[in-house]
Amino acid sequence: MAHRRRLLVIGAGPVGLEAALHALPLGYEVRVLEAGRVGENVVSWGHVPMFSPWEMNCSSQGLGILGRQGVRPFADGRAAPTGREYVARYLLPLRSCPPLLGIVQERTRVVAVSRDATLKQDRPGDRARALRPFRVLAESGVRQEIHEAEVVLDVSGTYGRTRELGNGGIPAPGEKEAATCIDRGVPDLEVPRVAARFAGRTILLVGAGHSAATSAVALAALASRHPRTRILWSFRSTRVPLYPRVPEDPLTRRDALCAGANRLAQGSDPRIEPYPGSFVESIARPRSSARARLEVILKTGGRLRRERVDRIVANVGYTPDASIHSELQVHLCYATCGPIKLAAALLGEDGGDCLSQVQPSADRLSNPEPGFYILGAKSYGRNSTFLIRAGLEQIRTVFAALAGDPRLDLDVARLGHRPKRAGAAAPAVRPPGGDRVPAARG
Ligand SMILES: Cc1cc2nc3c(=O)[nH]c(=O)nc-3n(C[C@H](O)[C@H](O)[C@H](O)COP(=O)(O)OP(=O)(O)OC[C@H]3O[C@@H](n4cnc5c(N)ncnc54)[C@H](O)[C@@H]3O)c2cc1C
Repeated sequence: MAHRRRLLVIGAGPVGLEAALHALPLGYEVRVLEAGRVGENVVSWGHVPMFSPWEMNCSSQGLGILGRQGVRPFADGRAAPTGREYVARYLLPLRSCPPLLGIVQERTRVVAVSRDATLKQDRPGDRARALRPFRVLAESGVRQEIHEAEVVLDVSGTYGRTRELGNGGIPAPGEKEAATCIDRGVPDLEVPRVAARFAGRTILLVGAGHSAATSAVALAALASRHPRTRILWSFRSTRVPLYPRVPEDPLTRRDALCAGANRLAQGSDPRIEPYPGSFVESIARPRSSARARLEVILKTGGRLRRERVDRIVANVGYTPDASIHSELQVHLCYATCGPIKLAAALLGEDGGDCLSQVQPSADRLSNPEPGFYILGAKSYGRNSTFLIRAGLEQIRTVFAALAGDPRLDLDVARLGHRPKRAGAAAPAVRPPGGDRVPAARG
């Protein structure tokens, strides 16, 4: 009987879970190691309404499995859930159903990946490295364990690793000491305990991505209820409008958010003071009293401006953790920290609209280390335009490459309106080391 190949997934976010789901019918022995709980990162921003509707966030297989258990995550596929709803109604039920039941090992953090009896510098770029299995070191509480696998998918995201807020992306002097006064996610201002930290205070918001837009709109709403609230919004860009609109944007929530944030960035609300082209030079926390305000120096147009604020919301983006695979032959982009070939393709795009991005070829997703793939949000590195829908397409591409059949189509992203390709019909699945079997359909 043919030996079943072992496939290890790092991270049980949306893309990791879907990858595991798609590996199982292909005959892999699958294990998912998750540092926290299933959907941990999505739950961290779970109060935020998603841009993408249900039908873009779920695979047809996932919905098929849930359907057979009588679970229907949504009534209208064009409606968009909050992150929390998406985890509660889709990811968690999926984790608890066969075939994923018992596959995910939660509270287990992968620390490092290497190859058996092989060092980073051995056989550079040689496919023969694949003759040795991966050795994956994971920690679960105080326990450390080694897992072996022939294929490793690093789908560990970037969300937990926030960047520094100082000028030039390094820590501002005093940033570390002010840590307890800095929120690095999108605060949930609907929670009274959280809102109380901001209401009636002076807040510095830093950043100009979609998270910063969400925070700006939410803080403006809070300020309208608590008029003593004052918000300073610092961002590097001087572009007007700050958030370019996508003509006839099919992601209507994104469009509404951008329109609202653009108005605030242009000074439409007297309680929000925008500082375009500005940088945080330093943060000082007077030691005299725990309640003392922070003194922040902003550099704007070459001039320094001193402001006293109570709290800082730093929405300045995330960066991937390269330490996990530092003993493997992985080629990263020096600008985005994503895998080089995909990064080059993404950098070649203008505008960065996440709905009109390059389709990932197997070559773009591969790197010098055979059998090791970085997928999901982490594959985009510091580029923040990743959507789950792109991850579903990556899964299709990677499993086709692993099966050695570019026409293999698991119909992963049918509900995400993936463009059909010529020759993708009539799929058949070749399990690793086994016979051909009919493709699994949801
Ligand atoms: C505010 C906000 C709103 C967003 N809205 C949307 C949206 O509307 N639509 C959309 O498609 N995308 C949206 N995104 C992007 C979204 O985060 C991703 O599309 C999605 O979460 C990516 O899934 P993933 O599985 O690649 O990574 P993640 O969801 O980040 O999951 C990674 C998982 O890996 C685990 N992990 C990390 N390190 C380790 C380790 N060392 N060992 C083991 N496990 C580990 C984490 O705990 C986590 O569970 C949004 C992001 C933010 C911040």
